[in-house]
Amino acid sequence: MSSTAPAPERLVIIGAGPVGIFQIFELGLLGIQAHIIDSLAQVGGQCTELYPEKPIYDIPALPICGAQELIDRLLEQTKPFNATYHLGQEVTEVKPVGGGKFLVGTSTGTRLLAGAVVIAAGVGSFQPRRLALPGIEEFEGTSVHYRVKAAAEFHGRDLVICGGGDSALDWTVALCEKARSLTLVHRRAEFRAAPATVARMRDLVAAGKMRLVEGHVAALHGDAAAGTTRLTGAVLQTKDGLTTLQVAADHVLAFFGLHPKLGPIAEWGLDLEKKALKVDTEKFQTSVPGIHAIGDINTYPGKKKLILSGFHEAALAAFAIQHHLYPEKRQFLQYTTTSPIMQKRLGVAGSDAH
Ligand SMILES: Cc1cc2nc3c(=O)[nH]c(=O)nc-3n(C[C@H](O)[C@H](O)[C@H](O)COP(=O)(O)OP(=O)(O)OC[C@H]3O[C@@H](n4cnc5c(N)ncnc54)[C@H](O)[C@@H]3O)c2cc1C
Repeated sequence: MSSTAPAPERLVIIGAGPVGIFQIFELGLLGIQAHIIDSLAQVGGQCTELYPEKPIYDIPALPICGAQELIDRLLEQTKPFNATYHLGQEVTEVKPVGGGKFLVGTSTGTRLLAGAVVIAAGVGSFQPRRLALPGIEEFEGTSVHYRVKAAAEFHGRDLVICGGGDSALDWTVALCEKARSLTLVHRRAEFRAAPATVARMRDLVAAGKMRLVEGHVAALHGDAAAGTTRLTGAVLQTKDGLTTLQVAADHVLAFFGLHPKLGPIAEWGLDLEKKALKVDTEKFQTSVPGIHAIGDINTYPGKKKLILSGFHEAALAAFAIQHHLYPEKRQFLQYTTTSPIMQKRLGVAGSDAH
């Protein structure tokens, strides 16, 4: 590259689902490096969060591919392009700052100045389903938790764990012998977790090391002191509604899964239709030039929410972004099979590539 070449612009992708990850690849082929942000602690969007073990049958040239496997393959494919990942932070702000640039801000204080933005936010950012009890806010973050940040906090404590999926069962098994007492509360007799973990939990119940209650948490009791309310106990109601149990509880861990929320995206002044961002089908650009939207988050006539469609959208958006960032640059289509410059970017070319 000559010393007069323009400095690469910072390109920000919001959402690290399959489509956001593939956008890294399509931009990388055109020589544009990306920053990618996701509110979740890991990449993969719906594939990783909702159905990692399920097989997908409609990815071209992969007759069968597990959802997590697809994400792993995409990460491998995008590796040469060294994207910068900012995980566990929700993008709360996208603000035009003049000169076709945008300020992108996140919930944890990251601030990026972007030459263009791609919103690949799927069905929105995933939020934990909360325990539906009046006054729950006073316990959330201190004694009611929707994720485990530091397991040691729960050692030697009275715990109530709610839910019937992998998270609830994995933490039940992991914490059972470390907690002072542990009660697992689930609405049904059937569990959605891995059978081996369910069997281990049943062994622990049979050994008298924990209690299993088929029902729900009906109320929480606290002790208000020094401006904070410390949890002291939980009232559990059995499924048949006949029995109410009082259990000691220092912490409640509720794992009811995640639900998507469009959230701050609705406040960025972009045209929306039925909670989706309206785009054209040439550039996949929103109503604001320089902000593109691809994957499940967008809408246009004939839109189908398929991974395959999102991949196509990422390819065309990449060309439009290249033009937005470098309007002087002549664009022409190159094939990865024959383009020395693309092969160099992919790290597969010999030293004669330029
Ligand atoms: C059970 C199930 C099976 C499916 N099977 C198939 C199938 O066989 N074939 C197929 O093609 N499709 C299938 N789909 C649909 C497919 O998963 C979606 O089309 C695909 O995940 C969309 O990808 P995406 O990258 O656009 O969005 P997503 O996968 O939804 O990822 C979006 C990401 O953006 C993040 N995000 C959102 N807002 C913000 C914000 N403000 N700040 C930071 N991060 C944010 C989210 O946390 C999320 O990680 C299936 C879906 C489900 C639920």
